[in-house]
Amino acid sequence: SGRWARAMEILKELEENCATPIGKLRQVADAMTVEMLAGLASEGGSKLKMLISYVDNLPKGDETGLFYALDLGGTNFRVLRVQLGGKGGRVVKQEFEEVSIPPNLMVGSSSELFDFIAAALAKFVASEGEEFHLPVGRQRELGFTFSFPVKQTSISSGTLIKWTKGFAINGTVGEDVVAELTKAIERQGLDMRVTALVNDTIGTLAGGRYYDNDVVAAVILGTGTNAAYVEHAQAIPKWHGLLPKSGKMVINMEWGNFRSSHLPITEYDQALDAESLNPGEQVFSSSTSLSTKNWLFRLICNLFFYSQIFEKLISGMYLGEIVRRVLLKMAEEAALFGDSIPPKLEVQFILRTPDMSAMHHDTSSDLRVVGTKLKDILGISNTSLKTRKLVVKVCDIIAKRGARLAAAGILGVLKKQGRDTALRDGSDMQRTVIAMDGGLYEHYTIFSNCLETTLREMLGEEATASIVIKLASDGSGIGAALLAASHSQYL
Ligand code: ADP
Ligand code: MG
Repeated sequence: SGRWARAMEILKELEENCATPIGKLRQVADAMTVEMLAGLASEGGSKLKMLISYVDNLPKGDETGLFYALDLGGTNFRVLRVQLGGKGGRVVKQEFEEVSIPPNLMVGSSSELFDFIAAALAKFVASEGEEFHLPVGRQRELGFTFSFPVKQTSISSGTLIKWTKGFAINGTVGEDVVAELTKAIERQGLDMRVTALVNDTIGTLAGGRYYDNDVVAAVILGTGTNAAYVEHAQAIPKWHGLLPKSGKMVINMEWGNFRSSHLPITEYDQALDAESLNPGEQVFSSSTSLSTKNWLFRLICNLFFYSQIFEKLISGMYLGEIVRRVLLKMAEEAALFGDSIPPKLEVQFILRTPDMSAMHHDTSSDLRVVGTKLKDILGISNTSLKTRKLVVKVCDIIAKRGARLAAAGILGVLKKQGRDTALRDGSDMQRTVIAMDGGLYEHYTIFSNCLETTLREMLGEEATASIVIKLASDGSGIGAALLAASHSQYL
């Protein structure tokens, strides 16, 4: 019928606008490399912030003692303690607890959020067993993984640049997040010092290196996305401090904010960006007439003003929401789900990426999982097999665009490091290991397989043989604890 034809038209348009042929991905990778250089050259030189982490040494394996870590960066936060036994012992004992953050605290006040976190931390410290040893007279020390863009001022201090990933808290931007946490810890009557402030990418890099000496970069693909890597200190023109002894500096790229005219951005992404908590800078006043907001003008403006657009194309917070927007358009213009628009389909963020992933991985012949999800989440019952197949196709287009762009981003980093071709150290092939963390990569198999296939395709066989993506689930917690250890006040 005409309706189905319209649905197919929308699908075809989506497919075309989301296309990521290898040539385009190479352009994205090259743009990433160029932006990295620009971001390292000067403060504000690129939308890629290329933040200096103050981490100039990664763990060696000889760290010892009891250390805590706190990981805040998504919908959950985690507290962790670890007893480090040095070269021989490594991690003697490790315990953690996960606490979900009440949604109202994600958009409330700074002190409420930090009080909630500090209270959970105090409770966790109170449960410390005898297997953990704190030498007499010492303060407990903590590595704080705070996965939002921070302008670091030392290894243990830094000011928040902006909230991302659905957080919107008044009065924290521009504040030192360690000072905020420390005040909350004191309000709890807890005796603990924050000795390292890191981002989850830095934590993952540190944790990854602890177990594998060839880890030189870390990528997060979870609620958000980001990357960090080891840079030569003398290749950072904007760094005016003393060159570290190691000659190295870990850079937190904040690649979620990467943008390039080569990114395949659709009307759905534009609308999502405009309606998000952290929209790109306001280009139009609400009084601007619709005709003024013509397509080309918007496109040009948006290329300059999108916020966190790379993250919005790739990460777990947004993939399901993009699918919802496509299905909504199909409902509106092609009556895909009947004559009326299912009310729940109009609810933002109602379709979460894990549900999208479950539909996408449905292997049953009648796509039973898709049917159930559509019914349970969107209140759409009695869908035909044809409709279900269409839903899966939409998931496929959105997931693969994200995965392929993530692969292009990784290639950009490898290029910057000169590791995108097979390197030989004498007769040995030099290994390059990327520590990977995040629920999206870990659980969305079609996504992670597509990422790896795409990277392989771009690198070629020889280089692929020397490059390893290593899943380091929750490596950032242990990484933060390790960095707390290497920056202990007692060293
Ligand atoms: P965070 O990024 O908040 O630190 P995680 O690394 O655990 O947390 O990632 C959680 C994110 O991973 C979720 O927001 C979701 O988008 C994604 N995710 C979790 N489980 C799945 C799944 N089964 N399929 C697809 N995505 C998933
Ligand atoms: Mg995380």
